[in-house]
Amino acid sequence: MAISGFMKGLSCFHRAKPRTKIHPLYCFARRSREFSISSSSIADDDAVLPVLIVGAGPVGLVLSILLKKLGVRCSVLERRTEFSSHPQAHFINNRSMEIFRKLDGLAEEIEKSQPAVDLWRKFIYCTSLTGRILGSVDHMQPQDFEKVVSPTSVAHFSQYKLNQLLLKKLQSLSLLGNELLIGHECVAIDNTIDEYVTVTTSQIKDGNKKEEKIQCRVLVGADGAGSRIRSLVGIELSGEKDLQKLVSIHFRSRDLGDYLLKERPGMLFFIFNTEAIGVLVAHDVKDGEFVLQMPFYPPQQNLDDFNSENCKKLIFKLAGQELSDVEVIDIKPWVMHAEVAEKFVCCNNRVILVGDAAHRFPPAGGFGMNTGIQDAHNLAWKIAAFVKGISPSSILKTYETERRPTALINTELSVKNFRAAMAVPAAIGLNPTVANSVHQVISAGFGTLFPSALQKVMLDGIFSIGRAQTSEFLLNENNPVGSSRLSKLRRIFEEGKSLQLQFPAEDLGFRYLEGALISDGNGASTTVEPPSGRRREYVPSADPGSRLPHTYIRPLSNSPTNKVTLSTHDLIPMDKLEFLLIIGPHNESYQLARAAFSAAEEFGVSVKVCIVWPADTNVGTEGKSESPLSPWTNFIDVAEVKKLGTNLVSWWDMCEMSDDGAILVRPDEHIAWRVKSGVDEDTISEMRSIFSAVLSLQ
Ligand SMILES: Cc1cc2nc3c(=O)[nH]c(=O)nc-3n(C[C@H](O)[C@H](O)[C@H](O)COP(=O)(O)OP(=O)(O)OC[C@H]3O[C@@H](n4cnc5c(N)ncnc54)[C@H](O)[C@@H]3O)c2cc1C
Repeated sequence: MAISGFMKGLSCFHRAKPRTKIHPLYCFARRSREFSISSSSIADDDAVLPVLIVGAGPVGLVLSILLKKLGVRCSVLERRTEFSSHPQAHFINNRSMEIFRKLDGLAEEIEKSQPAVDLWRKFIYCTSLTGRILGSVDHMQPQDFEKVVSPTSVAHFSQYKLNQLLLKKLQSLSLLGNELLIGHECVAIDNTIDEYVTVTTSQIKDGNKKEEKIQCRVLVGADGAGSRIRSLVGIELSGEKDLQKLVSIHFRSRDLGDYLLKERPGMLFFIFNTEAIGVLVAHDVKDGEFVLQMPFYPPQQNLDDFNSENCKKLIFKLAGQELSDVEVIDIKPWVMHAEVAEKFVCCNNRVILVGDAAHRFPPAGGFGMNTGIQDAHNLAWKIAAFVKGISPSSILKTYETERRPTALINTELSVKNFRAAMAVPAAIGLNPTVANSVHQVISAGFGTLFPSALQKVMLDGIFSIGRAQTSEFLLNENNPVGSSRLSKLRRIFEEGKSLQLQFPAEDLGFRYLEGALISDGNGASTTVEPPSGRRREYVPSADPGSRLPHTYIRPLSNSPTNKVTLSTHDLIPMDKLEFLLIIGPHNESYQLARAAFSAAEEFGVSVKVCIVWPADTNVGTEGKSESPLSPWTNFIDVAEVKKLGTNLVSWWDMCEMSDDGAILVRPDEHIAWRVKSGVDEDTISEMRSIFSAVLSLQ
């Protein structure tokens, strides 16, 4: 069957009953028996899939949903036959939640399903889960609940649960065909032809390996930290490798959950005692679902040291007591790196890396998955512009120009956070870098002269001497060493120098300096401040490349459907390739808006115009701007909603805009262009050249 037949074959999947049981949610994706893909030449445009995404992790799934909403045909290959239930990521930052808020209520579903915020707002440092608390840090501040800088807030929700919600969303959008190909591994690619990439997939069927080929115009590698796509196209990573090896122990214990719920609810527990050291992530205390992160030192230690029984013993040591109901679900080793791919786009702009395939960070600060989700958001509208014939493939290159610097910044931030996390054990005499050095000496230095069993004893011995620093005998106020260490610890917590959870300055304030935008001469800074990891405040900015600042607005129309309060972000749809021009109600600005309508029409994209009136403007008769914008109709008159005591300065002033200024926003809510005041006289040429630059047409 040729590829067009394959796609037609796919379209009936959602009606068919699955033959192979995977997970109830993913059944719609099976019945691969129905199609066999042969190596085919391209007969017509339909024969080439516009987009193929390799990897159905959170990033691949978000990208496929965004593309579907923009009307772009795409399929996702996933090598696994069952999705992982390992919780892994759990912190969803503010920007990702803003994206999810616009995915048919996904943010609300997460908010409804996640544990209550009081159960996870704190990090707790203790000698055991039932023992002495050395310190605790509350990571939520009043402004986090006020929704002033964003219409939504951060969330704590396990990655596997998020994946399930994403799969459900994809399923609801996939009524025209089945785009999720489970159990299909990408094993080879051929990019020798300019117009498309041929992907070889491998599938085990009835015990036999079956290879098939798919041709696509754009291939996206969302295949995780060990990306096959990245190595197939020969892209190297640069940065720091192997910062730390760890083992994740996923377990359930209702008893532990009940205890923590009552006595000391928190998200992360950093536990230091004479018998063990570890970090417990409380994914859901009510359900008693946890992941314990333990440092791992191979080859002296091996995975057998972390069998189920040993893991239970470790859990008891860290809990400070035995628990009768511990069920170890899964044990997974992993390595922490801080690396970014040298290129995100290659092969004539046909092959693109997103998510962990493009960057892998320490999870400190929760930037990994979040950065990937934002990669997908940046990329989706550009792929749509290319596939729909609006832009040349060079628009895809702007994804790399914009996202790679962001990935580098987030890597730096994650490493800083990782080091900040080490400040606490270092203060109590447990310097993890010393532990790593000891391990290196034993593994590569004189230790290699001894048999491996002896190396293990040496390592255990040295580590237990280290852990002795945390004994009650040493770590107390009456002991001068202990007292000085405890006061150092208090200073770290008071000065906010321990691991932080929220980074609004970077999470909402990240900005692209170049790419699909026009940097202006309006005083926008031409550099991005290096991340400090300590600036908690986000400073709203309308500089090109920034995320459009949020404020609440009310439409100035009598229509009953317009009675709602909206965020400025709601003016940009997810299901349409549409730009937003924001202006004030002035003649020159209306002239600019009319020019924007006609230029956008010429370039085959849509533009909506938003006219911001002063906050005290009354709802007037329908269509205040109808006559100045006639014959164009895609506009909305709005006024800012003032929240008592918060918006002392108007949103427009906060954006440093004059009455006759204008802001052009891209489909991903980042600012493409702005003029602070006084638009060019030749508005048509001005708007033509702006759209042409932003769409990579010049
Ligand atoms: C302990 C831990 C805690 C973390 N906590 C956070 C956090 O709180 N917040 C945060 O933002 N991030 C966190 N992260 C990072 C986060 O888990 C990753 O960034 C995220 O999984 C990346 O998603 P992805 O979709 O890019 O890749 P993955 O989740 O790795 O998905 C890749 C998918 O591709 C599939 N695949 C691979 N190769 C092929 C192939 N050849 N063919 C077909 N399919 C293939 C895989 O099976 C997999 O399903 C954490 C990570 C760890 C280890």
